[in-house]
Amino acid sequence: MNSNVSAMQAVLAKIEEYDKIVIFRHRLPDGDAIGSTKGLREILRLSFPEKEIYLNNCDSSDYLEFLGDEDEPLSDEFYANALGIVLDTATAKRISNPRYELCKEVVKIDHHIPIESYGATDWVEEERSSTCEMIVQFYAAFRDRLKINREAATYLYTGMVTDSGRFRYREVSGDTLRLAAILLDQGIDADRIYAHLYMKDFASLKLQAWALSNIKFTENGVAYLHITKTIQEKFDLTFETASTAISFMDAIKDSLIWLAFIDNADGSIRVRLRSRFVTVSEIAEAYGGGGHACAAGATVGSPKEMRQLLADADKRLGDYKANNEGWL
Ligand code: AMP
Repeated sequence: MNSNVSAMQAVLAKIEEYDKIVIFRHRLPDGDAIGSTKGLREILRLSFPEKEIYLNNCDSSDYLEFLGDEDEPLSDEFYANALGIVLDTATAKRISNPRYELCKEVVKIDHHIPIESYGATDWVEEERSSTCEMIVQFYAAFRDRLKINREAATYLYTGMVTDSGRFRYREVSGDTLRLAAILLDQGIDADRIYAHLYMKDFASLKLQAWALSNIKFTENGVAYLHITKTIQEKFDLTFETASTAISFMDAIKDSLIWLAFIDNADGSIRVRLRSRFVTVSEIAEAYGGGGHACAAGATVGSPKEMRQLLADADKRLGDYKANNEGWL
C-alpha cells in the first residue's frame, strides 16, 4: 500500500519542532485508541528522551486496563507550549479531552472516513485497518530516527488485532500483516494479550445469555438489541459491558446489518452499527456520528430517533438485498 509519505514527513517535522507533546484520543476508548496513543508515546519517549511527552484524556476503559494508566493532568501553561497529537478520532467533538484546544498546534492522525479537519497537520488514511497500523508504518518509514521496544509493540499489537477483528476485516492488507510482524519481532506475548481480550466477567456472559433470546429483527432482517437502563441495572452492567452487546449479533445469516442501542445515563442512546458488505457509516453520519463503512457509531436523543435510525437501516438492507446477489 502506498502510504502518504509527505503527510508522515510533516508529522515527524512537527514532532521534532516541539519540546512538549500531549497525545489525545477519542472518548469511550477502544483498543485502537488506547493502543495507538500509548504506542506512540512510548516510541516518542524512546526516540526523543529530551522531550516531555504525555497522554492526557478524560475517560478510560475497564476492559483495557491491562494496558496501564495514562498521565496526570497537565497545566494550561504546559498545553499552551505543546504540540497536541490527536489519534483515531474523525471529529473534534469526540475528542476525550476538550483541553486539546489549548495546545499551540494540533496534528490529527486517523484511519476513519474523514469528516472534519481539526488539526493544522492532518494525516488520514481511511484504507488502513487501524490507527495502530499507521503508527507502526510511521515507525517503519523513519527507522533511522525512531525507536521501538516490546512495550510499545504490545500496545500497538493490541490495537491492530482489536480494530481489524483479529485480522479479519476487509481493510486488512499485506501491509497490515507485514507491519504486525515488526511488532511480533519485538518479542511480545500475543497469547497473553488474547487472554486479556477474551476473558469475560460473569455479568457479561449473563448478558449474552439474555441477549441471544431477545434479539429483534426488522422486516428486512436488521438484527438489533436495546440495552435499556432497566436491563443494565438487572444485570448490574457497566456501560462498557452493556456496549459489548453488539458482538452477539455478528454472525446471523441474512442479518447483514446489526445494531446495538445502549441507554446513556443522560437519556440519550448510544448506537453501535455493524455490517457485512453493506455500508452503514452514512446512516451514522446522518445522525451526527461516523466511523467506517462497516463499523460506525452515533448518539441519538430519543427512542423516536432510535426508531427512525432503525427504519433507515432496514431500508438500506432492503435496498441492498434487492440490488445484490451472492451475499450469504
Ligand atoms: P463503536 O461502535 O463505538 O465501536 O464505533 C465504531 C466505529 O465508529 C469506531 O471506529 C468509532 O471510532 C466510530 N464512531 C463511533 N461513534 C462515533 C461518533 N459518534 N462519531 C464518529 N465516529 C464514531
